[in-house]
Amino acid sequence: MTARILDGAALAKTIRMELQPRVASVASRLGRPPGLGIVLVGDDPASEVYVRNKLKAAAEIGLRADLERLPATATLDDTLALVERLNGSPVHDGILVQSPLPAAMGPTAEQRVFDAIDPAKDVDGFSAENVGRLVQKRRAFVACTPQGIVELLDRFQIPIAGARAVIIGRSDIVGKPLALLLLHRDATVTICHSKTRDLASVAASADLLIAAIGRPAFVTAAFVRAGATVIDVGVNSVSDSALVQSVFGPDDPKRGQFERRGSILMGDVHPDVAQVAGALTPVPGGVGPMTIAMLLANTIHAAEGEWRLD
Ligand code: NAP
Repeated sequence: MTARILDGAALAKTIRMELQPRVASVASRLGRPPGLGIVLVGDDPASEVYVRNKLKAAAEIGLRADLERLPATATLDDTLALVERLNGSPVHDGILVQSPLPAAMGPTAEQRVFDAIDPAKDVDGFSAENVGRLVQKRRAFVACTPQGIVELLDRFQIPIAGARAVIIGRSDIVGKPLALLLLHRDATVTICHSKTRDLASVAASADLLIAAIGRPAFVTAAFVRAGATVIDVGVNSVSDSALVQSVFGPDDPKRGQFERRGSILMGDVHPDVAQVAGALTPVPGGVGPMTIAMLLANTIHAAEGEWRLD
């Protein structure tokens, strides 16, 4: 069997096109487009790329996105003050603080900053209020990556209700909120992590296997039941040529890509899984673009004022 490839990049493009009329209708009602304020502290290279992609996707559909930069030397108070300014801004409906914040701000800085965002503008859904609302199955902003995964499953008509879902990874931004979303959609959910025993056999019980680990090619065919749907959340930049050669066969174009660039993006799922799974998301071009599409959708929701209806 060769898995059906779930093309998240193409789907995200369709969704962005679907969002355009809503941008236009907000613009005609409010006299301005929906607006997103993106806070970037420091100069983490991966964050620069993520932020650039978000700005580009927003511009493409006419959504206003402003990058608010602070230097790596900024303090937690500087960052909180910036969030406060955006909370009061009449042209910003959504606020996103790019993670990670500089380590010097301390281990609790991110949660303090997320919690400072007005919950009605918290389009990443990381504040305690939105997480609590998600737990209670109330209207909430939900983290964009898990939301994008559920949207992708729905659009490709992959059943969730009754499915056995196994999620590897329990982070606050992917594993935990995804578990809640799938639970609310009547999946039977198992969450695995680094202390899980017999991980491969637990994973192999899944109809729906989601890998959100951050370890290149960790999920091999032994983790996957024949015909299962596999969602690869991992985005790992790999510069180890021995690893690339062990994962990709001699004729795989990814080897050429690696030789040209000196590094390559690899998911958490080994390419051999495509021979076992029924459906599989690629990396890149799977979950990543869906995450950005959900960020845009959430910003439009915020501008439409729907969050306040509950
Ligand atoms: P994270 O906070 O580092 O969490 C990783 C999780 O994987 C943890 O729960 C950890 O378990 C678990 N884990 C690590 N090693 C394991 C092992 N050997 N066996 C079983 N579980 C193991 O990572 P994250 O932020 O959730 O991100 C995960 C991956 O998704 C990364 O590659 C990230 O770049 C990617 N990502 C992609 C998007 C996107 O839009 N495409 C968005 C977010 C993240 P413990 O809890 O026990 O430590």
